[in-house]
Amino acid sequence: MPKKPLSVYIHLPFCVQKCLYCDFASGPAGTDEIAAYMRLLTKEIRSFEAIASIYRVETVFFGGGTPSVVAPFYIVQLLNQLRSQYEFAEKAEITLEANPGTLNAEKLVKYREAGVNRLSLGLQSIHESELKLLGRIHSYEDFLESYELARQAGFANINVDLMSALPKQTMGKWKKTLETVAALNPEHISAYSLSIEEGTPFYERYGEGRIGRLDLPGEELDRAMYHYTKEYLGSQGYSRYEFSNYAKKGFESRHNMTYWTLGDYVGFGRAAHSYLEGKRFANPSEKEAYPEASRTAYQRFRAASPQSEKDAMEEYMFLGLRTARGISREDFRKRFGRSFPKQYEKELLELYRSDLVEQAGGRIWLTDAGIDVSNIILARFLLD
Ligand code: SF4
Repeated sequence: MPKKPLSVYIHLPFCVQKCLYCDFASGPAGTDEIAAYMRLLTKEIRSFEAIASIYRVETVFFGGGTPSVVAPFYIVQLLNQLRSQYEFAEKAEITLEANPGTLNAEKLVKYREAGVNRLSLGLQSIHESELKLLGRIHSYEDFLESYELARQAGFANINVDLMSALPKQTMGKWKKTLETVAALNPEHISAYSLSIEEGTPFYERYGEGRIGRLDLPGEELDRAMYHYTKEYLGSQGYSRYEFSNYAKKGFESRHNMTYWTLGDYVGFGRAAHSYLEGKRFANPSEKEAYPEASRTAYQRFRAASPQSEKDAMEEYMFLGLRTARGISREDFRKRFGRSFPKQYEKELLELYRSDLVEQAGGRIWLTDAGIDVSNIILARFLLD
């Protein structure tokens, strides 16, 4: 029987310091804490051995946190362990998230030797004032050094993370960030708008009633930045293949496409999410809860119920419509054994008549105008 494709996510929740806007499960840790976490992680991965023979690993993603904070031999060990358990696709995409200020030539060479072939660098902005305001640990110069070292180490697939709609940010500053980064010619650029999440220092300072103090760009400027990003990066050979992700041809993130196309993925580590055999399950994000959760992860997966057909259909629409490829009637039929429910046909017809979706060759996707109101559109695919 042919093996099924699998994506693997490994969460490494360690950072030099907490950025002021960050609500991920992450934070600083000493070497003992990191070593203890790695022991639990290793056991958690091992506990899924029983299902390993039916899968072939197509992608691995080390996320966090800042995976480049841990000693590189941990990355080597984790990849060796995965390889001992799973068959790997010949051209498996193996990504590691890293932050400038935490990389050096030796680490990068070790990652390459271990098989890491894609690097995702968190830059966010080229402006020192913006980096400082976000609580980032690095300067633009640090980023440039890391980028050059990564190229020298042989990384031919690099993503750079950027952030727009920052406090006091002008269109001119955002353009400068985009232009400077595109001139370096990374294969992939992710560009997200800042959002102020509860539980972050930003929220404490500026949340609820105090948001005005942050001097955030208004909705109109935020959308103008978003539109400019597509236009400018398009002129530089990047195409937007998901709401916030841009790639040179052939460099779309295969790992993230697994998420958006409801492929199978398993997540190991604190706060990691999985979608396996139609079941959604996750580890808790609290540090204290992970030891117990890591020991019971496999049993919890076994005991979980597959999501309902209704939930799966809604997710298929929400996630698929985030991508430029959109959704397909044929895919839907294959996955659910039926055509779109009447409600979807009605909504899609209305959206098409309003120029909010486009269709061709059996595929349907959001237009630029549709993306601008995507929150409202996607809610229309909640089934009655
Ligand atoms: S480096 Fe990333 S994960 Fe770590 S605190 Fe900053 S934004 Fe969060």
